[in-house]
Amino acid sequence: MGFRYGNPMTTPPDARPTLFADVVFDRPLDTAYSYSVPDHLRDSIAVGKRIECSFGRGEGFAVGYVIRVTEVLPTREVKPILKVLDEFALLDEELLKLTRWMADYYLCGWGQVLHAVVPAGVRGRAGTKNATFVELLPREDQPTILPSVTPKQKLVLDTIRAEAKSFEQNELAKAAGVSVGIVASLVTKGLLRKFHERVERLPASFLNHVPDEAEVERTHKTPTLNTDQTRVWEPIRTALETGGYHSFLLHGVTGSGKTEIYLRAIEEVVKRGQEAIVLVPEISLTPQTIERFRGRCGKVAVLHSNLTDSERATYWRHVASGDVQVVVGARSAVFAPTRKLGLIVIDEEHETSFKQDSTPRYHARAVALMRARLANVPIILGTATPALESWHAAHTGAMTLLTLPNRVENRRLPNVQLVDMRHEPKTPGKFFAIGPTLQFAIRDATKKGGQVILLLNRRGFSTHVHCPTCGHVAQCAHCDLSLTFHRSKAALVCHYCGYETAPMLQCPACSEASIRYQGLGTEKLHSELEALFPDRVIRRMDSDTMTKAGSHQRVLDSFRDGHVHILLGTQMIAKGLDFPNVTLVGVINADVGLHLPDFRAAERTFQLLAQVAGRAGRGDKGGRVLIQTYTPEHPCIALAAKHDYPAFAKLELGFRREHLYPPYQRMARLIVRSEKQEAAEKFADQLAGSFKQANIRASGPGKPLSVRILGPAECPVFKLNDYFRFHFQLLSDSSGVLHSVLREVLTVTKVPGGVEFQVDVDPYNML
Ligand code: ADP
Ligand code: ZN
Repeated sequence: MGFRYGNPMTTPPDARPTLFADVVFDRPLDTAYSYSVPDHLRDSIAVGKRIECSFGRGEGFAVGYVIRVTEVLPTREVKPILKVLDEFALLDEELLKLTRWMADYYLCGWGQVLHAVVPAGVRGRAGTKNATFVELLPREDQPTILPSVTPKQKLVLDTIRAEAKSFEQNELAKAAGVSVGIVASLVTKGLLRKFHERVERLPASFLNHVPDEAEVERTHKTPTLNTDQTRVWEPIRTALETGGYHSFLLHGVTGSGKTEIYLRAIEEVVKRGQEAIVLVPEISLTPQTIERFRGRCGKVAVLHSNLTDSERATYWRHVASGDVQVVVGARSAVFAPTRKLGLIVIDEEHETSFKQDSTPRYHARAVALMRARLANVPIILGTATPALESWHAAHTGAMTLLTLPNRVENRRLPNVQLVDMRHEPKTPGKFFAIGPTLQFAIRDATKKGGQVILLLNRRGFSTHVHCPTCGHVAQCAHCDLSLTFHRSKAALVCHYCGYETAPMLQCPACSEASIRYQGLGTEKLHSELEALFPDRVIRRMDSDTMTKAGSHQRVLDSFRDGHVHILLGTQMIAKGLDFPNVTLVGVINADVGLHLPDFRAAERTFQLLAQVAGRAGRGDKGGRVLIQTYTPEHPCIALAAKHDYPAFAKLELGFRREHLYPPYQRMARLIVRSEKQEAAEKFADQLAGSFKQANIRASGPGKPLSVRILGPAECPVFKLNDYFRFHFQLLSDSSGVLHSVLREVLTVTKVPGGVEFQVDVDPYNML
């Protein structure tokens, strides 16, 4: 039975006016629904809490988030809220505004965003328990004739009197050295009063990391800023002092002392009683990184994907209660519920892991910029290889560019040599991934006591399994992707969906017994290295070897203490590692990834090469980099070798401008998929047609079109996980026009059964 507009039966004139709540649900629809608030829930209802109510025509129940409480009567008949689920609001005003913006910008439901932002553990109150407390009753509430007490009971009373506070029952028993039963007996005698409260399961010391002497020595000293650092620090200091939104792009080569600048800025913010959020790529959340922040900046909450629900929830509550000064975390830490946010830092801002590839498909950089705006605080984006979007913004005045062109303490950037694989001497009939030049360099570096890092951005043993007779290529049964042979598993594996099949010797197509296993992955590189350098300790780091929690850290630790001579791996090893004894970095094949059908392929290759080169020569011994390539003349590779980011950016932005790609135009990508190819194709055509119509309306009759529509076409990877996929892209100079066209079509689109579609605003995955 619902509340009816103006029904005198439910709003007696003498009662307080009925409250109504607008509620959103974890669904794509972007509508808020009104519910009435029954009298007994009036005091507990609040914006930012979850409620339970009936939903839809049937008897179904749903959980939703309250986004508004009002006395204004809804225009339609509404149902009552059944239950308020949270004691405290899960999000404050600022996070509500931020999530509202995300729903608009990424074209999904506000409820979907809220559901994604609040950790599951927080919703489920993970990490808390219902505890029994006792306190001393005031004398006037105690029995008039005091009961006699045993010596043990007296111990309890003495303890609680001495502390003059309430105790958790068990704690009090422990403190008095008696059993819990003794404490309970005092409740029965009417001397103590019992009550229940929800408390943290983990002790408060959870947040209090106590460093040992060596750690203090490593992390507590504050170096004097050098001239370059002083120059970039000045405007940041001023912005922190003046307050208000200000965005900085800190472009500093690897090892130029960017982190030192972040630390100063955070110290400044903490000194004022405010809090900072630091976003770093998941892979950089190493103990070494965290230690640096802990040593200098107060209490640090670390949010990464390996936390249990209760650890995450405990951190979240500590942040929300103002106990934490710095939140360091991956992508989702941008939603940390700080109380007095004073600064946001994004390290390695170019990293694509900041983009989420499921709904809401947000980019943490974009969200962080918006959050800094809403909170009216400065934000620093730091990197050696800025995303072209950020570089462009810094050159159009949307951000302030700050530059650290040199490494600290006059350390030089490593010398980079390109090795043209077309001219490397070959051993007839044998294939070596490591050419003679690189082999010699590895031998030389390790002989002199240096360590070596080798990058190959492909995992597995053989990446191309094919029949030379008929041309058949081993492909996934569910995806348009070729299978990779993994020797350790003795299987052919699809790197997208995980499909596995037994390796074959005979071609399934022509029965010829001559299947070739070619193409190089890290597993094969590993065995080649073992054959070439039998007396060296070699370790491999890729997602196949790093499956157990802590395995990553174990390998890095043994590399740091010098036990491992050669570390090889995928992009995992390219980023952020700071090992002073690395004197040689080798790139096995720089061309991997350069020719992918993605307009960012060159940008990503440049970033990867620049990042991995930055791992060399961080100590006093100096270092060098060898890059094996079949296309040394490619500007992306040639400029990476010269450490010349500005020249690369200029060139690449030229291409982007010419083809009107981001950052010159805003892009949204739509993907339609279905297990039935025709159904997907038909709906993609229809959807693209609707966009064309909307585009004509938005641009005005006879005017040039304001949105470019590319496609529909088959996705570069047409079949994935048994779904056939079509996509098209919408591009426009104006984010506003792009969004209004998207919204106009999407709000009226009816998706046929068996078909799904996704909207990806500012897409990073183009395959
Ligand atoms: P980045 O973040 O740019 O890679 P870091 O801030 O990590 O650079 O600095 C690299 C190394 O140099 C670190 O070990 C850091 O402690 C040290 N360092 C930074 N600034 C200075 C300075 N002004 N004087 C001496 N050492 C410094
Ligand atoms: Zn597959």
